[in-house]
Amino acid sequence: MVSSSNPEPIIGKFGANDPGPRNVELDRQNPDILTPPRTDNGSIPNLKFSFGMAHNRLEVGGWAREVTVRDLPAATGLAGVDTRLASGVVREMHWHKEAEWGYVLDGRCRVTVVDAERNVYIDDLKAGDIWLFPSGIPHSIQALEEGCEFLLVFNDGKFSENETLLLTEVMAHMPRDVVAKNFCIPAEHFANLPPKEKYIFPLPVPAPIGEVLAKLPKQRPPMPFTVHGDEFTAHQWDGGKTTIIDVRNFPVTNMAALIIELEPGAMREIHWHPNADEWQYYIEGEARMTVFDATSKARTFNYSAGDVGYVPRTLAHYIENIGTTKVRLLNVFNDPEFKDVALNQWLALTPPDLVRGHLDLDDIAMAALNPNARAVVR
Ligand code: MN
Ligand code: MN
Repeated sequence: MVSSSNPEPIIGKFGANDPGPRNVELDRQNPDILTPPRTDNGSIPNLKFSFGMAHNRLEVGGWAREVTVRDLPAATGLAGVDTRLASGVVREMHWHKEAEWGYVLDGRCRVTVVDAERNVYIDDLKAGDIWLFPSGIPHSIQALEEGCEFLLVFNDGKFSENETLLLTEVMAHMPRDVVAKNFCIPAEHFANLPPKEKYIFPLPVPAPIGEVLAKLPKQRPPMPFTVHGDEFTAHQWDGGKTTIIDVRNFPVTNMAALIIELEPGAMREIHWHPNADEWQYYIEGEARMTVFDATSKARTFNYSAGDVGYVPRTLAHYIENIGTTKVRLLNVFNDPEFKDVALNQWLALTPPDLVRGHLDLDDIAMAALNPNARAVVR
């Protein structure tokens, strides 16, 4: 728990006080790094980075910052971007090699997509809404009146927000006579093309969506590129909520997501994902996570709002609310389907003699093994 005192790296007879020099703010935010549980062991790589430590790219009317494999070397499978756009500001029309999963954190925005079947897709989104832009499909994002902030996750740790394929740049880097021939008009009509990217730039707030769509062809994609927060239902547990958004309720997606809410003291139970890496974004609260890997390796990290966590495929982990307020976070996976193996269920569904023979559990512990799904416990 984040404390206002000067925490010291002491557990019983282990450790000693830290006379300094020290960055006590970091020590307060990372009590399980300063004073790890005695069960931590060996060399698990760093699995935490904060957007507060990420380079911020400031443009007119907005900013964007990214956490990629450059900042978090273990995060080879997924990367993320946090973007703020003021009223009317546009994230330039573009595409990229990676799929893009998006989550609106604040305000409202409009996404505009054209797919390979020439379908037109435009939607207005608010906090809690989600999008998925498949690899290579061009899109743009524009803030509506109130501005917006959104989180993006890409299914490649090497992604960079600064290296997307931009409309201004494809126009600037094709021979001018080729551009003229492509659009079947003289080159003079392209004399004012911007020489370099616009990336994030202000425009007037767009007209209401119905008005805009009425002027475009009526062909819509069979699978929507967005899903609204009120279209899926959370699973209620004693101690919190989980919401799965994957290919089963959002057919266009190739990246599954889990939204987790934990009440104080509650915990996302010990589990792992057989099919995917997990990219975490903490929206509120104070949490800790231990990640276990072969052989006998374990390391515990602390997270709060704006922090990124990462769990490589198949490594065991839990997420515990160690604060006094609700924890809310996103998990995004590089697989279309959400799958996990829960430690408790695995043991409960295995012949009891086999389990007892391994762990020497007493009768009460054996009776506590629970075959029912229970994503959150307290
Ligand atoms: Mn994009
Ligand atoms: Mn997980």
